[in-house]
Amino acid sequence: MIMLFLVLISFTPVIGNAPELDHGPVPEPADYASGIPVITYHQITLHRSAYSATPARLRSDLQDLYDAGFFLILPTDLEDGLGRVPFDRRPIMITFDDGWEDNFRFLQTTDGEQYTDPDCAVAIVNAFLEEHPDFGSGVVFFISWDKVPFGVQTEEKLNLLLDMGHFIGNHSADHLAFTRIPPSKYWEQIIPALNSFHRRLGLRTSGINVVAYPGGQIPHGVNAEAVLASMEYNGRPAVTQGYLVDGAVGSFSKFYDGNEFRISRIDMAIYSVPRLLNWSNIMIESNARTSLHDDLPWRPILSD
Ligand SMILES: [Zn+2]
Repeated sequence: MIMLFLVLISFTPVIGNAPELDHGPVPEPADYASGIPVITYHQITLHRSAYSATPARLRSDLQDLYDAGFFLILPTDLEDGLGRVPFDRRPIMITFDDGWEDNFRFLQTTDGEQYTDPDCAVAIVNAFLEEHPDFGSGVVFFISWDKVPFGVQTEEKLNLLLDMGHFIGNHSADHLAFTRIPPSKYWEQIIPALNSFHRRLGLRTSGINVVAYPGGQIPHGVNAEAVLASMEYNGRPAVTQGYLVDGAVGSFSKFYDGNEFRISRIDMAIYSVPRLLNWSNIMIESNARTSLHDDLPWRPILSD
């Protein structure tokens, strides 16, 4: 018995390691080539958890995505037909969920001067964009109000994010899973969150019209999309796009078929960039163009 116990112990995997990134579910083969990856991070910290990535990991992901020919898009680009994306780049959206303090943290020098923690998410992204201005202009922060967004100085940080060219999305008032509340109650999560944004951002709240569902899903067959589409805030649609976390790459053409409330996202605590690059439906890199009349590489294919 003791021997068996010792044998079992010796085969017990070491716990506390980083999540195994290259063994996420096998990507589904897809018959379309117009997939747009939307990736999501939560905490950016050295303290490992199921929802964290280290600052070094975020830096290397940005570099790997840039090297692979990606260009950062924002939710507005999906409605503009990706017009900003250069012909030789493929689109990707980077999102950060919840509004953790390690996404945007201020530190103080010994003489009391405030500066941005160089290891927080927004500082890492901004430093990379400064060195690689052709990577695009911003990322998305989905904020929930179940805690103080970014820990302290929320109003200043939210306004600074918009000044920097980043995009703010709604991640609800209380962070309740949208599969656990009936669609008739969605407004209790979406509208009070918009009121909270409005108290910090005033008129700038008009640009906050996309939602990442807490829990990463909305139910099927209960008219959830119709409820979201009908919701208004100050005379404008409260929600024009909704983001899941489902480990899939959604098709650009599907976005225009009324699926704007089910935009797929990939949790980067589970997937690595090399894994993502093996996805079968990310806009296919064609061979180099031999003439100006050849098909453009990496452009969306609008029909399935
Ligand atoms: Zn969340």
